[in-house]
Parts: sequence; C-alpha cells; structure tokens
Amino acid sequence: MTKQDTAFSDSVLDWYHSHGRKHLPWQQDITPYRVWVSEIMLQQTQVATVIPYYERFMTSFPDVFALAAASQDEVLHHWTGLGYYARGRNLHKCAQTLVEHFNGKFPDSVEALSDLPGIGRSTAGAIASISMGIRAPILDGNVKRVLTRFFAVEGWPGTTATEKHLWSLAERLTPDHSHQQYTQAMMDMGATLCTRSKPACGICPLQPGCAGFATGNPTQYPNSKPKKEKPVRSTVMLLIEDQQGRILLQQRPQSGIWGGLWSFPEVNSTEEAEPWLNTRGITRSESLCLASFRHTFSHYHLDITPIHIQLQQPVHTVQDSTDHWYNTVAPESLGLAAPVQKLISLLTQESL
Ligand code: SF4
Repeated sequence: MTKQDTAFSDSVLDWYHSHGRKHLPWQQDITPYRVWVSEIMLQQTQVATVIPYYERFMTSFPDVFALAAASQDEVLHHWTGLGYYARGRNLHKCAQTLVEHFNGKFPDSVEALSDLPGIGRSTAGAIASISMGIRAPILDGNVKRVLTRFFAVEGWPGTTATEKHLWSLAERLTPDHSHQQYTQAMMDMGATLCTRSKPACGICPLQPGCAGFATGNPTQYPNSKPKKEKPVRSTVMLLIEDQQGRILLQQRPQSGIWGGLWSFPEVNSTEEAEPWLNTRGITRSESLCLASFRHTFSHYHLDITPIHIQLQQPVHTVQDSTDHWYNTVAPESLGLAAPVQKLISLLTQESL
C-alpha cells in the first residue's frame, strides 16, 4: 500500500467514525445471514425502501433454516414490490444449498461464498468483511461511484476492462485492518456523500486528492452506458373475476420475467381474448377494456392493456395446473408482480 492509498483509507475510516451510519437494522446483531439478506435487498434498491421489507423478512425468516424451509411463494410474497425477483428466488435457493451442503453455515472465504446461488464477488466481499472480519474488497454501485470519481476513471463500469480496473483499485485501497468499518464506510460515502447527482464535495474528506472534483464536473463519472433505445412490447392481461369476486391468476414459468410469480392470463391482442375464453369454456357477462399503461423493465418497455371480465356462470373447466382463483378478501401469501398487485388493488377498491 502506498502512502496515498493509506491516506485514502484513513480518511474514509475517520469520516465513518464521525459520520457513517451505524443504526440500520442489518447493522445490529450482525451475522452472515443478516448481512447477506440486506446486501441482496440493497442491490438496485434504496435503503429507505429496503428497511420495511428487511424487517418483515427477518420477522418471518429469522435464520437460514427458516428461509430454506419456506415455500417459494412465501418468499416471493415478501419480495412483492421490491422488484428484480430473481434476487428473491436465488436467496431462497441459496438458503436451501446452505442447509443441505453446509449445515446452515456460511463458508468463510470470498471464493466459496461467490460459488453460492445469487452471490457475486462484491456481495461475497461484503458478507466476509462485515460479518466475518475478513479483508475483502467490495465493488457495489456506491463504491464504483466513489472510485471512478476519485481516480477520474474513464469508460462505462459495465465493460469488462473498466470493471477489472476498478476491482484492482478496490483491492489496492482496502486496508489491512478495520475491515468491517471500511466496507461500511465506502458504501456510506457513496450513498450519503458522493451521491449520484449532487456529490457533497465541499464536505468530503477525499476532496484534496479527488481527480473527479479537480475536473470541475465530478458527475461525469462514472461514465454512462452508451445509449440504446429500449424496445417496446405489448400484452393484454385478462382480469377474470368470478361470481364470488375471486380473480384468476396463473403462475409464470421459473425463468423469464416475473419468474415464479403469479400473474393474470395474457394474450397478444384484445381480439384474442374471446377465443382464449372460449377454449377454456368461460362465458363472460361483461367485459371492460381498461386504460393501458407502461411498465418499464431494465431492457424493454411493456405496454399493458388490462381487460376486466366478469363471469356470468360458475367455471368448471379452468383446469390448468398453474391456475389459481385468488381470493381478494382473504388473500393468500403469493408473490405478485408490481403491475399485477396494482391492478388487483384497483379491482378490489371498485374504482375501475
Ligand atoms: S470530492 Fe466529491 S466527487 Fe470526489 S469523492 Fe468526494 S464527494 Fe465524490
């Protein structure tokens, strides 16, 4: 470690002792399990959003054994609204792997942790350093921002070359002591000081050596991803309600968007609704085309047209094994995609 590197980590640690966050739920009773769940939830999600989800999750699944024993529906139900559902599925799968192959204990090396489902190198580094006191660098979005600015690193961090360069900087700067505090400090600096659009350079202890600050425009780092128009897809969702007010849901395949979650039957166009109902032997009494809206995924836009269909007669012929009549009065614990939950709430509020 050079003198400059030591000065960097010392400044980060000094700042953390006086300004870092120490009262977040996952910073109490620190265990690998608690740190792991928080790290997965915090990927692509803000702290304030995560806190209530984290607390509910910990109440229902206080340890890795409780999580492994839960059904996937229960786990995804706790994830409803948090997005990026593969995280929830992998969390569940990982808990089962830990129970089956590791007696419910997390392995104590970054390499072994990284081999587990859904745990990348940065998450493994966070678990190892925060909960096990192991020297391990991390490189989450917050740390990338601080490093790209401090060193004025050119290139989008999504490219292999830039990412590799950032990992080497992260590795080089990680001190040989205070591993837990340093990891927390780097995450906190990115989240509260070196923020995305308004870095507080005026009060930042790294300012004297910060190359991004010296350019006069630190927010140009990290460089943005080269722009590409998102494609637009469309779907028609059939909100089929029976005479008792129950709504027909189907479980989506495990892979693909909203994998394993419950959603409405879908057809490609409004014209296909009638034939779809006919093949299921469903007679409708009333149907109403609702306002279309757009749901945006990371890689495309989805234009959704909902049709509310109220059934006239009891249904005897809906028999697909993925079908489920969802009781809106006493809802079961199912994982629902955000637009599905929104549409069900609208239906139950009778505001459609
Ligand atoms: S000086 Fe500004 S840009 Fe540089 S690390 Fe601090 S907050 Fe970020």
